[in-house]
Amino acid sequence: MKILSLQSGSSGNCIYLESGGTQLLFDAGISGVCAQNRLLRHGIDIRRVHGLFITHDHRDHTASVNVFHRRFKIPIWMTTRTMEAVRDKGIRVPGNIQNFSANTRFRFRNLSIEAISTTHDAADGVCFVVDDGSVRFGICTDLGTVFPQLPKLLDSLDGVLLESNYDPEMLENGFYSAGAKARITSDFGHISNFEAATLLAEHGQNLKCVMLGHISHENNTEELVLETHRQVLGRDFECVLAPHFEASEIVEI
Ligand SMILES: [Zn+2]
Ligand SMILES: [Zn+2]
Repeated sequence: MKILSLQSGSSGNCIYLESGGTQLLFDAGISGVCAQNRLLRHGIDIRRVHGLFITHDHRDHTASVNVFHRRFKIPIWMTTRTMEAVRDKGIRVPGNIQNFSANTRFRFRNLSIEAISTTHDAADGVCFVVDDGSVRFGICTDLGTVFPQLPKLLDSLDGVLLESNYDPEMLENGFYSAGAKARITSDFGHISNFEAATLLAEHGQNLKCVMLGHISHENNTEELVLETHRQVLGRDFECVLAPHFEASEIVEI
């Protein structure tokens, strides 16, 4: 299984995953041209992608959903409530969306895909686990909080893209309004560097690959992410960072 983050964070999210001849995208928060070019650098033709799966309705995950469908002919999958919420935001959605339900597992070609509800403040947000029969990879950003199913989910994974969104001190001292600060730290916002690191320390024993993403541009730095994770997990903790405005390195598990 190969995974590549094309962009990660509030400026746009898009993740590529391939396994056994199936090529998928998760979220469409960057422009079509940008996704196309970043995949091409790895010799991947976006027109060959078999499906685009949407985690939740927020614009940084859905802004280009119509472009991806129209220009690249990619079938789109999202829950009905997410689709309605995307439309309510004035984002164009193609007519022939395929639906799945949160908290279900379904087959897609050679893969099993599980959608697990998060507590993030979206209409019907989910994180995904993709299982190809030999490895399981989790796409776990915009979590809200460390919700009750999350530790067990981490225990079951071989690889994860985990959100490490904010440094509490930077957020506290930053320019965000009191309301925005409260939202981020609430059970409906994002999880912090320390929460992500603690989750990995307690439940990441089977992980062969950790990618940290959805790193806030305003309330975090890559240095703080690494520093906090290494304080909790040890100095030799290795991970891949998913950057804001460019693709990550490609990881293989
Ligand atoms: Zn987001
Ligand atoms: Zn979100």
